Amino acid sequence: MAIVEVLQAASAGERRRLLLRSPATLESLGEIDVATADDVRAAVEGARKAQPAWAEAGFDARARHLRRAVRVLLAREGEFAAAIARETGKPELEILSAEIVAACDALEYYAKRAKKVLADRTVPLHLMKSKKLRLVHKPLGVVGIITPWNFPFILALNPTVQALAAGNAVVLKPSEATPMTGRLVEELFREAGLPEGLVTCVLGDGETGAALVEAGVDKIAFTGSVRTGRKVAESCGRQLIPCTLELGGKDPMIVCADADLERAAAGAVFGAFANAGQICVSTERVYVTEPIADAFIRKVVEKTAQLRQGPEGEADVGPMIWPPQLEVVEAHVADAVARGARVLAGGRRNPRWAGLYFEPTVLVDVTHDMLVMREESFGPLLPIQRVRDEAEALRLANDSRYGLNANVWTRDKRRGVELARSIESGCAVVNDCLITYGIPESPFGGVKASGIGRVNGDLGLKGYCQVQSIVVDRFGAKSELLWFPYGARKARLLRRLLRFVWGTPLGRWLS
Ligand code: NAD
Repeated sequence: MAIVEVLQAASAGERRRLLLRSPATLESLGEIDVATADDVRAAVEGARKAQPAWAEAGFDARARHLRRAVRVLLAREGEFAAAIARETGKPELEILSAEIVAACDALEYYAKRAKKVLADRTVPLHLMKSKKLRLVHKPLGVVGIITPWNFPFILALNPTVQALAAGNAVVLKPSEATPMTGRLVEELFREAGLPEGLVTCVLGDGETGAALVEAGVDKIAFTGSVRTGRKVAESCGRQLIPCTLELGGKDPMIVCADADLERAAAGAVFGAFANAGQICVSTERVYVTEPIADAFIRKVVEKTAQLRQGPEGEADVGPMIWPPQLEVVEAHVADAVARGARVLAGGRRNPRWAGLYFEPTVLVDVTHDMLVMREESFGPLLPIQRVRDEAEALRLANDSRYGLNANVWTRDKRRGVELARSIESGCAVVNDCLITYGIPESPFGGVKASGIGRVNGDLGLKGYCQVQSIVVDRFGAKSELLWFPYGARKARLLRRLLRFVWGTPLGRWLS
């Protein structure tokens, strides 16, 4: 059963329609019209008209709007959470913490922070003392934001907030699996009083996303798979517009012999099964050192057995949201078992429920030739490989085309940071997991196939701006040393300066 079904192929002048279903119950959730390339271009034009006044309004006015959005969200939190639950089937706590709390934090954080990071700044020059440098951060204009289905609210809202705080307008294309949640972002800002056209959500699938990339925007902030990210990057490269690519991961977890076993095992279970493993920074493979492997695996299996799953009552693990991803998970388990892995928990779709529930699954006796250790599963799988020592764990952790996040568990925090530094990843955590995206101070992104560029933090905010360098002459002399006319006297003076500035301690100190 597809969660999104194409109801009507487009005939001339007609929009395609998609039928949506709940991943938890497979019940119909209604239909959406797919935005055409013309609709997308119209949204970009509307955004382009609305943007100059928004940029002109300044940081304080923009911050007031973002704070108003917090108040709207607080007032309508229950309604928003219910809408997200309908499309994703997530447990209430996951919606509250990862979608709603994180959204309020992002709105308030960037409302407060943008002025400090992006206001004009004068930079003293180390050498040319007769000039002043002014750094000016200008908004890019219209930012296209394309997002996936796994955290449909926060992954759409967070880049939107940063783009807005920097003075841009936004056209958002949420995933076709969770379009109504994406539309909540537009609704939130409309109710917060943002000008018409400043944030517009266009609904649709990959074609709509591709149309947005080609619609004349000034940047694309893309979050999604490596496969789509590559297409987006190709198109942006051709148009010479910037893009950030927040792509998939295959995050390793290293458990050292001196780790706090109780915390590490609980962290493994949470890191792998939170949001049913559909987190770009999920723990996707574990390397546990031999001396503690048996005890660690025992604890992981015990804790996994306690997880509750299903659409009724309180639950810890929700359904998978996107049927093709469930097929990937099934294929990874089948491949691992065929190559000799053992299933210690789960390993199949949950037979109790009609929805897309896959049981939290622990695999052991896994090796690095298995898909489950090489390709992103993006589902509730926890493969555990025993290793001789930390050196072997590190070698295997880096034997991957991905490099998004990683986590290391040891009582020796200094050693933990050393190990984390040696992992080829954009982010890493010591004695915890998952949290890197949720810390606004922390620039977030991947290396290798996991992406290009950073979101969040000062770096993320600056990514929504052009930086213009303006150099100002301070003293207004009639001429400059290096201006015409050239001559031997000027060359002699320049040589003397050269020897003084880079050839004497005083010169080096002064510069
Ligand atoms: P996806 O790449 O299939 O789709 C992402 C978005 O791109 C959707 O809105 C989709 O409609 C759109 N799209 C599809 N084809 C397009 C095209 N040709 N041009 C433009 N847009 C197009 O990814 P998904 O299945 O929705 O999401 C899961 C993936 O996202 C996983 O790989 C996961 O790791 C990754 N992800 C990464 C992060 C991160 O921050 N690094 C966060 C969440 C999810």
